[in-house]
Amino acid sequence: MRLSWDDYFLKMAETACLRSTCLRAQFGAVLVRNHTLISTGYNGAASGVRSCLERGECVRERLQIPSGKNYEICHSVHAEANAIIRANFDLMDDATLYIFGLQQGKIRSGMPCFMCWRMIFNAGIGKVIFFDDERQMKIVNVKVVDRSRILSYSAPEA
Ligand SMILES: [Zn+2]
Ligand SMILES: [Zn+2]
Repeated sequence: MRLSWDDYFLKMAETACLRSTCLRAQFGAVLVRNHTLISTGYNGAASGVRSCLERGECVRERLQIPSGKNYEICHSVHAEANAIIRANFDLMDDATLYIFGLQQGKIRSGMPCFMCWRMIFNAGIGKVIFFDDERQMKIVNVKVVDRSRILSYSAPEA
């Protein structure tokens, strides 16, 4: 069966998540404009910093920090953030961001965390597409959504 554009780019985001250096949860993101890939990213330690893989443990996991809390303990950059910082700013205007998440081999909601939402708003991204925990595709139209509400409801990442 031929993939739809959305499934095609979500598959790419799924592939990107397999490059993650976090032991707790793996996320992949691809930025697309006019059906053309403009950037990709996955969650992992900041450049020059030891990753979960190198340490052999995820500190957030060991300390049992709930999702979305105490981000200062983790030295990673989220998948969406990596895709955004590596993209050409002009190309991001009205682009679509696809996100895919895995935790212990199972799909996990790709809903961005509150920090990434703020970056998404300022990057001028038009749409965010991801699966929820039940693998239902969610499409957020960033241009019309209530942004304050999104920030108060966001279900975060690793
Ligand atoms: Zn980790
Ligand atoms: Zn995030």
